Amino acid sequence: MRNDFLPFSKPSISEEEINAVSEVLRSGWLTTGNKNAEFEKSFSSYCGAAGSVALCSATAGMHLLLKALDIGPGDEVITPSMTWVSTVNMIVLAGATPVFADVDKQTLMVTAESIEPCITDRTKLVIPVHFAGAAVNMDPIRHLCEEKSLKLVEDAAHAAGTEYKKNRIGAHGTAIFSFHPIKNITTGEGGMFCSDDHALLDAIRRLKFHGLGVDAYDRKSQGRSPQAEVLEPGFKYNMTDIAAALGLGQLARLDRFIAQRAELAARYLDLLADIEEIIPLSIPEYEMRHAWHLFIVRLDTEKAGMDRNIFMNRLKEKNIGTGIHFLAAHTQKYYRQLYPMLQGTLPNTEWNSARILSLPLFPAMSEADVDDVVQAIKEVLQ
Ligand SMILES: *Cc1c(COP(=O)(O)O)cnc(C)c1O
Repeated sequence: MRNDFLPFSKPSISEEEINAVSEVLRSGWLTTGNKNAEFEKSFSSYCGAAGSVALCSATAGMHLLLKALDIGPGDEVITPSMTWVSTVNMIVLAGATPVFADVDKQTLMVTAESIEPCITDRTKLVIPVHFAGAAVNMDPIRHLCEEKSLKLVEDAAHAAGTEYKKNRIGAHGTAIFSFHPIKNITTGEGGMFCSDDHALLDAIRRLKFHGLGVDAYDRKSQGRSPQAEVLEPGFKYNMTDIAAALGLGQLARLDRFIAQRAELAARYLDLLADIEEIIPLSIPEYEMRHAWHLFIVRLDTEKAGMDRNIFMNRLKEKNIGTGIHFLAAHTQKYYRQLYPMLQGTLPNTEWNSARILSLPLFPAMSEADVDDVVQAIKEVLQ
C-alpha cells in the first residue's frame, strides 16, 4: 500500500505562474485590467473563438447567460441531470424549469435523440455538457436546435482544449468554461464565456460588471471613468487580474497538460481492461480530441458485491482518493423533493449516478501512481 495519500486531482502551478501572480500583486492594479484583456485575447485565439469574457466562475457565466437571454418563469431549459448542480440551480433560481435529457449510458453525454422528446412549446434553450474532456456530438444537436429555433449553449467546464471534428470547443456558437482548481487549467476560481454572437458578448460584458457599459479598467486612464452610468442592473462577476495572470500561464501549458493526462489515461485503460468489475466510459467514435479532464469508471456493483460508496471508502483506506462526477441533480435532496415524479425516469443517468467514480488523474501524476491505483482496486475487489 502507498504511504502517502494520492488525491484524485491536484493543480499544477509553476514558479513562473507564482511570479506572474506576485507581479500583479506588486503592480498596484489587482482587479480587472490588462491581464484580463490579455487572458481573454489569448483564450479566444487558443479556441478560435470570436470573443471571450473572463468571469469569476462558470456558474456566474450561466447566471449571466440566462439573464441575457431573458429566461424566466414559463420557460424550459433542456440539460442533463448528469451535470454539476450549478446549472440546474441557476435555471431554478431564474424561475425557469429544467427539463432533463437522459445521457448515453456509456459516454454520459446527451444526444440529439435524447434531447428531441424533451422539446415543448416552452423550450427556450438547450445546454449540453461536454463530459470528462470528451466532446458532445454537436452537429446533430446544432441541426435540431436550428430546426426548432432553440438557443444552444455548451457547458464546456470539462472541455478546455477538447476538439470536435478538428475545431476546439469554443470556436463555434457559445461555450462556457470553468477554471475551478480541479479543471484542466485553473485561475483559483474563474470562468470564460466564449461566443461568436457579438450582441450576446456585449450583454455578458455589461452584465458581469454592474450593468455599466465598461470594464473596471479604462485602458487609457487606468481606472474606470467615474462618469460611467448604469445601462441596466448587472452583477459583480468580473475576474481579477491576479486570477488572469495565473490563467495566462496555465493556458500556455494546457496542451502539455492534456498530453500528460492522455498518457496516464491510456495506461489506466490498458491496466483496467482485465478487471471485469470496472467499466471505464466509452470514447465516442466521431472525430474528436479528448482533453482527459477526468478518468471516470463505473463499478459493476452486482459483480463486485459492494456498492460504490463502500468501494470509494475502501480505496481511501488504501490512500487512493476518488471523486463522483456527478450525483445526478434530480436525485439530490432539494430536487428529489421538488420533482418527485422524475425519480426513475432517467434510466441511464440513474444507473451511472449510483456506479460512477473518478480515479486520480492530474498532470503531475506518475505512471507508478496509476499502477498504485490499479493495485489498490484489485486488492479491494478481492
Ligand atoms: C465545474 C463545473 C461547472 C461550474 O464551474 P464553476 O467555475 O465552479 O462555477 C459547471 N458545469 C460543470 C459540468 C462543471 O464540472
